[in-house]
Amino acid sequence: MSPVEGASISLRNSLGFEESKEVIDNKNEREGRSCLEGANNDARASEMLEKGFMQYGCAHYRRRCRIKAPCCNEVFDCRHCHNEAKNNINVERKHGHDLPRHQVQQVICSLCDTEQEVGLLVRQVCFNCGVCMGKYFCETCRLYDDDTSKKQYHCNGCGICRIGGRENFFHCYKCGCCYSILLKNSHPCVEGAMHHDCPVCFEYLFESRNDVSVLPCGHTIHMSCLKEMQQHLQYACPLCSKSVCDMSKVWEKLDMEIAATPMPQSYLDKRVWILCNDCGATSEVQFHVVAQKCLNCKSYNTRQTRGSPTTNPSSSPSH
Ligand SMILES: [Zn+2]
Ligand SMILES: [Zn+2]
Ligand SMILES: [Zn+2]
Ligand SMILES: [Zn+2]
Ligand SMILES: [Zn+2]
Ligand SMILES: [Zn+2]
Ligand SMILES: [Zn+2]
Ligand SMILES: [Zn+2]
Repeated sequence: MSPVEGASISLRNSLGFEESKEVIDNKNEREGRSCLEGANNDARASEMLEKGFMQYGCAHYRRRCRIKAPCCNEVFDCRHCHNEAKNNINVERKHGHDLPRHQVQQVICSLCDTEQEVGLLVRQVCFNCGVCMGKYFCETCRLYDDDTSKKQYHCNGCGICRIGGRENFFHCYKCGCCYSILLKNSHPCVEGAMHHDCPVCFEYLFESRNDVSVLPCGHTIHMSCLKEMQQHLQYACPLCSKSVCDMSKVWEKLDMEIAATPMPQSYLDKRVWILCNDCGATSEVQFHVVAQKCLNCKSYNTRQTRGSPTTNPSSSPSH
């Protein structure tokens, strides 16, 4: 799925540029300038649009403007800079807040320092010096970014800008988020799947700028947090305990391990009830100290529900 802020910008850009040129053309006509002068002005105007391209911005965006936060009226490079400043450990919790991106009204041109309204007129170009304040510009999110290699696009379903290219994503209305088109007919839909925190690091996934992965159960988690889980040999979804990947190779290894570890004579008639975390089936199986195998789906991702021995070492999956 596509991280936040990420591009079919060409349309908006070309419109923005054309409009500004048209304005200049009209002015030239009104003032009766010669064609040559008009052409020179055109050249100058388009030169101005490009001025400072990729040279301004912050750690988060290349852009040629700063924004005035509507929440606290202070000027920041971007909303992330604002959020980092307002929510860090030195700020009292009650003063902590996130900038409501859709409500930004004022931007300040980085080249000429002129403060201007973005709200009323769609303003991608500084009205004072004529510089383009961001090659990618989203009117809804008030997002400016010169670095279009991120392939930003605005998703109406999400209501925010995302990155990765519109052609590579679709909006799933049930999950409430943009997912990679590779998942279009294959992902298990979970109502509002993306509208919760990552079960590992607790960041709100819908607005996360890091890659998110959809587990076979439909639950979602950061790609990096999933990798970390797997490095710690944890292969069960933290939300529903289903296996997070194809475990058949691991189960085969456990088959061999169990075959090589015969239980002592006294345990041979110990039987226990297990619940399978993967398929939900319950079965009565012979107790084994290594793991218990689901009779229905062959998974070892099971937990013991009833039966002795009660001091069972493997009530949670042993993988
Ligand atoms: Zn920033
Ligand atoms: Zn300016
Ligand atoms: Zn947007
Ligand atoms: Zn979307
Ligand atoms: Zn879905
Ligand atoms: Zn996470
Ligand atoms: Zn799950
Ligand atoms: Zn099963």
